[in-house]
Amino acid sequence: MRQEQEPASDEVIEVAPGILRLQLPIEFTGLGHVNTYALEDADGFALVDPGLPGKASWDNLRSRMDAAGIPLARVHTVLITHSHPDHFGGAGLLAEESGARVVASHRFRTWWDPDESWDDTELEGADGGGEARTHVPGGTTTAASMAHAVVGHTHDAEGRKLPPSPFGRPTPWGGRTEDLPPERKKELAENFEEAMRWFRVPHPSLRLADLDPLRLAGRDWFGLYTPGHTADHLCLWDPSTGTMLSGDHVLPTITPHISGMIEGDPLARYVESLDRIASFDGVRLVLPAHGQPFTALAERVDEIKEHHEGRLARLREISEETGWCSVQDLSHRLFAERSWGSMAESETYAHLEHLRLRGEADRREAPGGVLEYLVP
Ligand SMILES: [Zn+2]
Ligand SMILES: [Zn+2]
Repeated sequence: MRQEQEPASDEVIEVAPGILRLQLPIEFTGLGHVNTYALEDADGFALVDPGLPGKASWDNLRSRMDAAGIPLARVHTVLITHSHPDHFGGAGLLAEESGARVVASHRFRTWWDPDESWDDTELEGADGGGEARTHVPGGTTTAASMAHAVVGHTHDAEGRKLPPSPFGRPTPWGGRTEDLPPERKKELAENFEEAMRWFRVPHPSLRLADLDPLRLAGRDWFGLYTPGHTADHLCLWDPSTGTMLSGDHVLPTITPHISGMIEGDPLARYVESLDRIASFDGVRLVLPAHGQPFTALAERVDEIKEHHEGRLARLREISEETGWCSVQDLSHRLFAERSWGSMAESETYAHLEHLRLRGEADRREAPGGVLEYLVP
């Protein structure tokens, strides 16, 4: 078992001066826990990545906070490294309950944030009818409405337009994200409504651009905009003690997933973000969002880069066997069957686009808008 997959410890430990680590259990893409770091200063605490949405995770967070001696009222900042549910899912409720500000990167955006296809003004004044309200940008809606949205309804019971479901969405490579069988949708809708009662969409009141300063734990940190794992990933760097909060950008033993949904060349941007943090002088401690603290950042960055070089080489071999081939089919050869799905396709697409943009692969569009690649 990799250290990122180990079950959450209920022990609170001080990983660096003024920095406590609380571990919350998660069952999410094969990981066993998320590290929630608590940074203490004279005004109270900043909590980083406070876990998944839902009652179970909230209860775990609150009991860990009690064990660590962190009263709700002393939390002044909730920091989110990136827009994955194990990082932002608990942040909105924690901020609401504590009155804390929410800090994230300038690019932070979740599925709940509106896009052009969702007219959020229609949600203004939505009547909760005594139900739990979920705040969305520009208005509020109910847990029931959001449960309808997630299973693909376009309008709620009152006829208001809902955001598009994350399931069955078109992808840039001409496929669709996983859809769910009807019975699973029904089950999800029921559980989701309950889960939504423990979820608030986090709205950053402070968005950090690259190198923006932030005072936490009594010292000056700098936001590092590090796209690749997501388009909005933020690391935090304290040069005075050589401490880096690395989020999911660099993990100790698991290679972070690369998102194909980032504009340009996602793999190149990821590697650029890796090289940049590896070039910093005086890195003494890296605190990842999953797994144990580590010190040898440059070595770990080299390993991750080697992994991707190996995957590119493997794609060349596979393409030689298959000839012109869709992203989905290539992903099925590149990944073990247990990993098949949108995430595997997204990363395969990122690798193929990287080769194409370097002039090492050709792309064509098959009928139905499905992209096919050939790596000659
Ligand atoms: Zn992540
Ligand atoms: Zn994560």
